[in-house]
Amino acid sequence: MPELPEVETTRRGIEPHAVGRRIVALNIHEPRLRWPVQDDLPARVAGHRILHAKRRAKYLLIELETGTLLLHLGMSGSLRVLPASTPRLTHDHFDLLLDSGNTLRFNDPRRFGSLHYTDQDPSDHPLLAKLAPEPFDDAFNADYLWKITRRRKVAIKQLLMNSRLVVGVGNIYANEALFRAKVRPRRQARSLTRSELTKLTRAVRSILAMAIKVGGTTLRDYVGADGNPGYFKQKLYVYERAGERCRICRTPIRQLTQGQRSTYYCPTCQK
Ligand SMILES: [Zn+2]
Repeated sequence: MPELPEVETTRRGIEPHAVGRRIVALNIHEPRLRWPVQDDLPARVAGHRILHAKRRAKYLLIELETGTLLLHLGMSGSLRVLPASTPRLTHDHFDLLLDSGNTLRFNDPRRFGSLHYTDQDPSDHPLLAKLAPEPFDDAFNADYLWKITRRRKVAIKQLLMNSRLVVGVGNIYANEALFRAKVRPRRQARSLTRSELTKLTRAVRSILAMAIKVGGTTLRDYVGADGNPGYFKQKLYVYERAGERCRICRTPIRQLTQGQRSTYYCPTCQK
């Protein structure tokens, strides 16, 4: 599933090709995405210039002169920059044709992605209005984590992955951030000390920043906006390393399941 770093990588990949370009047409090949694409969307965006390519949580925000397209990659979506003449493949669901002769082409085998448009402030859109702080926002800090963990008995890993509390920390990043912060994933959220929460905020930010820097992960079939797979996986300390030795202390990495997701940790490094 594309996680925050992959979405940010996609944003950075399309930005130089999209910003400043005029939309020639939006061709919808398959409107039945997670939510049906509005019929009038092509007419509303055609002819307008793209001013910015932004991101909020896992939404790509393509800001036009008159409004904003909100694209979510869903479980299996990807947005690529291609010459408009490139033959379409199965699961290519729309083309945003640009005046450069390129197209932003959306492919999504599972169709859990979505495309919306708003002519209002996108942060007021129902999909975005109630999102929790971004890991890179100033609002995401030890004070915030302290406040939201004090009365919660839920495991810290599950709290980190709860998008109503923190956005963009998927399974891989939650595992890796807890390793870096030296905290066991099953600890009750409220048991973490102030200093552990400080370490955890820094760990979440640094693991996401590193993943963005190396262009997203190479997990499964993820391909970046320009078609180059990332090289993040070699940098992982615990994720999908069950039975292998900890890169710090040589103890075998353990695996367990929390909320139907795999958890990995080092029983020596993490307390
Ligand atoms: Zn270790």
